Amino acid sequence: MLEVREAGLYCPQGDFYIDPALPVARALITHAHGDHARAGSQAYLTTRTGEALVRARVGDEAAIESLPYGATRRVGEVDVAFHPAGHILGSAQIRLEHAGEVWVVSGDYKLSPDPTCMPFEPIRCHTFVTESTFALPIFRWGDAAGVVREIEEWWRGNREAGRASVLFAYPVGKAQRILSQLDASGGPLIYQEAVERVNAIYRGQGIALPHATEGGDLSQALVIASPQMQGSAWLRRFGKASMAFASGWMRIRGTRRRRSLDRGFVISDHADWPGLLQAIGESGAENVWVTHGYVGALVRWLEENGKRAVAVELKLPAEEAAE
Ligand SMILES: [Zn+2]
Ligand SMILES: [Zn+2]
Repeated sequence: MLEVREAGLYCPQGDFYIDPALPVARALITHAHGDHARAGSQAYLTTRTGEALVRARVGDEAAIESLPYGATRRVGEVDVAFHPAGHILGSAQIRLEHAGEVWVVSGDYKLSPDPTCMPFEPIRCHTFVTESTFALPIFRWGDAAGVVREIEEWWRGNREAGRASVLFAYPVGKAQRILSQLDASGGPLIYQEAVERVNAIYRGQGIALPHATEGGDLSQALVIASPQMQGSAWLRRFGKASMAFASGWMRIRGTRRRRSLDRGFVISDHADWPGLLQAIGESGAENVWVTHGYVGALVRWLEENGKRAVAVELKLPAEEAAE
């Protein structure tokens, strides 16, 4: 039901693309990250909850329709439905059904709890198209709430030492997941603009997030900023701050040092290795298409364990920035 074209995954029976890399006539969008939602297509279909985030990405003028989770829409000859992927607010797996055959395109997903989005919903299908961002056995995540407690401890230690705490977190999803669980009462809370812009969209969808503080002693502050801000002039006002990064990539030894960070917090919005295997198992799919990450490692494991697996090479940029 899907084929790989230059612009990405194409469904001939429905005449649409899923998360196309190039402008197309009709794009179905799993979620609002930049490697999935791109400007320039003539028509978009995404989730009701994710619509505002997708609009912020593809532009005010874009023609965007949205569907509630679980609702079915006929597109061409295909029944299309969006189901929660547990990745970020409004993120979806896309279920396609045509002539009794069911495919599910996962987009990005995780199985671990996240107060800012609906939990991943296992869906039975014949073919499951899975991401593989962290598809190596070394990637195993601990409890995210525990990681947020570690962040609070780090902030407390920095306050006692009289230095600001700068936490780099991807501004769409990761920052809000942390903030939704953070005890923000310890000192001033400061958001870089890219983070606050997305916070506002989350609040608009009913997600409670702590508000930024006006004024206060900057040496006591927790600053939440996009990783792109590391080394920027904007950070100079915080003096000799402690710098940390919240990312699944911090699981790789040496990443923290290479990036000149004082701390790394391992927290990811993608499934870890056991999560990927669990999701694939629960899909019941006999065919698995693997894309978007450590494709080879996962394909090999699936083949060794009796699945039919296909490596799908799409023109997607590296995921690291988006994680
Ligand atoms: Zn994503
Ligand atoms: Zn992605």
